[in-house]
Amino acid sequence: MAKRPTTVAFVSSEVEPERWLPPLERALPQMRFQAWPDVADPTSIDVALVAAPPAGVLGRFPNLRFIQSLWMGVDGLLADPTLPRAVPLARLIDPGMVAAMSETVLARVLDWHRHLYRYRVQQASWEWKPLKQFMAADRTVGILGLGALGADAAAKLVTLGFRVCGWSRREKTIPGIEAFFGHDGLEAMLKRSEALVCLLPLTVQTRGLLDARRLALLPQGGCLINLARGAHVVERDLLAVLDAGHLAHAYLDVFQSEPLPGDHAFWTHPQVSLTPHIAALTEPRTALAKVVANLERFARGERPEALVDTTAGY
Ligand code: NAP
Repeated sequence: MAKRPTTVAFVSSEVEPERWLPPLERALPQMRFQAWPDVADPTSIDVALVAAPPAGVLGRFPNLRFIQSLWMGVDGLLADPTLPRAVPLARLIDPGMVAAMSETVLARVLDWHRHLYRYRVQQASWEWKPLKQFMAADRTVGILGLGALGADAAAKLVTLGFRVCGWSRREKTIPGIEAFFGHDGLEAMLKRSEALVCLLPLTVQTRGLLDARRLALLPQGGCLINLARGAHVVERDLLAVLDAGHLAHAYLDVFQSEPLPGDHAFWTHPQVSLTPHIAALTEPRTALAKVVANLERFARGERPEALVDTTAGY
């Protein structure tokens, strides 16, 4: 009897299936693709390809054997109580997105290091006042999270000559980077991080991590660059350390509530530069090959890449 083709459901409330399904159908003609809610027979679905799937939909596929996310962060998926937890879940490690995130990190670190945020303020009041120049080697950049995104950004900062330290859950050795881990490691790293970049996944352990006590450990005049999730930062505590002049600037891409409410203090705060959660977007030109390779691995009965450890939460 001929083998039944692998059947994949595309389930998303935010991403158009037209962006993904035609190239996937061309790359994997031996598989069948259907876009939720146009799934004729939910019992035929082997794989779900997801980006912010509506709550409860994945539980409707009784024979689901693999979930492939189209995003790098999976905190939203794991927060859904109806997610079928026994089904292996892979996240997407997209080289285009990793490159975009490192560009965003470099742009923010250089904006702070070269005082560009201060020159913009000076320009607004016709003020011509050169500020003291620092070399990259004078500055220490700390990176919270040394995963796919943090490790790439760290390596590129090292290339520019910055002193770089990083923090992870498990002990790591990365050439050129002073690596810290665990609870004690965090405090030691914060004390020396003049620019602090957050690239952690949002988990039970990392939610609310950057509170008043930890932000106060950062050196005077430093900056916070949060590109991970808004809930890593206690926003009122950040406003307090900015207002007190302890931190010079905050670069924020992610917020507790998105879109950022119109009356939020961040919109008009002179020490805040904000962007609308665009630090790095999935880049279909590089992501497609990764998704195709993982679907092929699944179809061959091999272990897919980038499986999420649901106990650790990332
Ligand atoms: P990843 O590869 O899973 O790496 C996560 C890193 O964080 C690892 O180094 C991990 O330590 C560390 N970590 C996790 N929990 C920790 C804890 N409790 N204490 C200390 N370190 C901990 O993740 P990634 O691909 O780099 O992505 C990170 C996050 O970026 C995503 O989860 C997503 O939320 C966010 N993101 C944002 C955007 C945007 O546009 N703003 C775009 C993409 C992603 P170990 O190395 O020991 O495991």
